Amino acid sequence: MTQIQLPESYTRQMIDQLGPEEAGRFLASYDQPRTQGLRIHPLKTTPERLREMTDEFGLTPVPWCETGFYYKESSTSKPGKHPYHAAGLYYIQEPSAMSAVELLDPKPGDIVLDLAAAPGGKSTQIAGKLRGEGLLVTNEIHPARAKILSENIERMGVTNAIVTQMAPDPLAERFPLFFDKMMVDAPCSGEGMFRKDPQAIDEWSPDHVKMCAARQWDILQAAVAMLKPGGLLAYSTCTFNTSENESTVAAVLERFPSFELLRTERIWPHRHAGEGHFVALLRKGGEDATAPDRAAVKARGKAAGKRASASRPEEEAMRLFRAFAADALPGFELPAGEAVLFGEQLYWLPAVQGCPFDRSYLNGLKVLRPGLHLAEVKKARIEPSHALALALPRGAARRTVDFPAEAPEIDRFLRGETLEQAPGDNGWVLVTVDGFALGWGKRTGSQVKNHIPKGLRRLGT
Ligand code: SAM
Repeated sequence: MTQIQLPESYTRQMIDQLGPEEAGRFLASYDQPRTQGLRIHPLKTTPERLREMTDEFGLTPVPWCETGFYYKESSTSKPGKHPYHAAGLYYIQEPSAMSAVELLDPKPGDIVLDLAAAPGGKSTQIAGKLRGEGLLVTNEIHPARAKILSENIERMGVTNAIVTQMAPDPLAERFPLFFDKMMVDAPCSGEGMFRKDPQAIDEWSPDHVKMCAARQWDILQAAVAMLKPGGLLAYSTCTFNTSENESTVAAVLERFPSFELLRTERIWPHRHAGEGHFVALLRKGGEDATAPDRAAVKARGKAAGKRASASRPEEEAMRLFRAFAADALPGFELPAGEAVLFGEQLYWLPAVQGCPFDRSYLNGLKVLRPGLHLAEVKKARIEPSHALALALPRGAARRTVDFPAEAPEIDRFLRGETLEQAPGDNGWVLVTVDGFALGWGKRTGSQVKNHIPKGLRRLGT
């Protein structure tokens, strides 16, 4: 008997699946503490550097992910509340969930879709591997969760991601045969979440498992339609249920015979240090995944409408942005792309060589973040965005105010307070923690006014 109350039909299912001896060890794992992990973000730092800077986290490596580490939270060490977290140096992620993107293995320049992406663990891992080259379309169906996804993309300083909030089918109409690589981390019955989130136990039932399997099948059919011939699809869940895992993969292979199964991996809590994950890597048959697909480009032309060029307000917004950059960011250059105005918000939509993606693809989609948010346009001036602050390479800003992580000013800045400083050069100032950007301030005399967006400021004690 475990201390956690498990549904009887679940216990029986696991005994059938694993046999009585192994099921005993599996069920006993529910009495062990859950594993906690973080993944270092290669766009910002390296594992060696972060380990040096955070001795108190007691990081130990996750075997299946080079950037993944276990930590043990204590009253004096809370990685989720550390200023390096606000600076996007790492992402808190359950260790076994790190396995799926490792198997998909995106490379710089790939065109990647993460179809069920919130809160963004796998998307930020993909973005780290793309290293700013290529394109990540990261999608989440639920509005509130899509907002969290978008904030995480911002915190991690990702410049080449489009965040959308769409159901899979209409997204597939817009992007037929489009992506080189795709992550489908499907909503599931969450059997691997029971230790972390006991509410998942209350939601579990054999009928819920059936409903999840049917939904996964629907999502996968849309995914298949968006994958290029020769493209790779990683399908993952955090459940142990074979009807959501192996059976769903078997259904794809049966219905779409051009697909081949390259590999499956399972992480089990009684065999590995992780809560549990399933991932299958499939390849779609056909030509080279990197070859432009003429049928897809033609279909896209119909769906997305005519290519539009920058409007006059966009040109004017970019003129203001360039004037700001000439003062505050000497030597800073935007990568290939185009300016897009969403109301008063100015974004930089990435352009990828050999990929037809441009602004016309955004028409009719619910888009939360069309690339890198550069600025808010005010009358005859701009205010640089929080996303820009977090995406800047080190040393890009002319004026900075830096504090060590333990300085009280860091906490005050993250709470939205104005900082009193020795007078300096007036203008936009990047506030940094040990050299890593936390957000913008604007200095007038000895005061640095806080420009962290209100919704992102720290609350409480
Ligand atoms: N990949 C995410 C990560 O690593 O942070 C976790 C994704 S979670 C397992 C599955 C997501 O699928 C949830 O955010 C959920 O809102 C979303 N979802 C639910 N129903 C969906 C549907 N019908 N189509 C697409 N996504 C759906």
